[in-house]
Amino acid sequence: THFGYETVTESEKQQRVAGVFTSVAESYDKMNDLMSLGVHRLWKDHFVSSLNPGATTPIGQPQTILDVAGGTGDIAFRMQQHAQSYNSNPNVKIIVSDINPDMLAVGRQRSLALPATHQANLSFLEANAEVLPPKIEDNSLDLYTVSFGIRNFSNIPAALREAHRVLKPGGVFACLEFSKVDKYPLFNAFYKQWSFGAIPLIGQLVAGDRDSYQYLVESIERFPSQENFRDMIVDAGFEVAGKGYEDLTGGIAAIHRGIKP
Ligand code: SAM
Repeated sequence: THFGYETVTESEKQQRVAGVFTSVAESYDKMNDLMSLGVHRLWKDHFVSSLNPGATTPIGQPQTILDVAGGTGDIAFRMQQHAQSYNSNPNVKIIVSDINPDMLAVGRQRSLALPATHQANLSFLEANAEVLPPKIEDNSLDLYTVSFGIRNFSNIPAALREAHRVLKPGGVFACLEFSKVDKYPLFNAFYKQWSFGAIPLIGQLVAGDRDSYQYLVESIERFPSQENFRDMIVDAGFEVAGKGYEDLTGGIAAIHRGIKP
């Protein structure tokens, strides 16, 4: 493809990604906290409250949400909490989907600690974002979320086209992903030191797995800039408002949103 993955074939990449997440599934949540110094929780909270799941007019209308690459459930659980507690909407169904059964198994296990009313509105689906299964029908979703997942996909344009296919007209594509700190050279220098120096080391010491975390750092480096990713979203048929993205923590992460016309 033309997005910087020339040296690896798609199936090689898919296998490598599967291996990474199988080996990190158990330590994944702890590692997120360590690597981001806890900041990923703030980004996720902001992502979910800005999407405001369950806010319908009239109040309490059903919504269907697909959380793609949902992993251990961080985004889906927050959306269910927001819909029920903040918007008092008990009718928001959320499908947590992921290509990796080990990540889903950790998510399913974690969901057992949630209130029964939350559990009842969550389901789990093993699925490749690039080829969603037919049970996710065309024009069927109100919201598609993907958080720290899309940079791992072998074929990002294919996943964006799938997102566009399954959303209803007016439905929202929302992505939280690592991005570029280019606008702040000094901060960027510190960030690069941290990510290339500390993260593989923490991976080695805490998870006993330097290679997987080295891969994660490199995948962040290869992912397109805010503007280029926005253009890919537009190419898939979405409309964006303004510049189409919001930087978090100077661009360490960014939220991109598109609406299906
Ligand atoms: N969304 C969660 C979060 O924010 O904490 C999990 C993110 S985790 C870093 C990335 C996830 O993407 C992994 O669970 C991995 O299995 C999944 N993934 C990678 N390639 C995928 C694909 N092609 N389709 C669906 N999920 C994929």
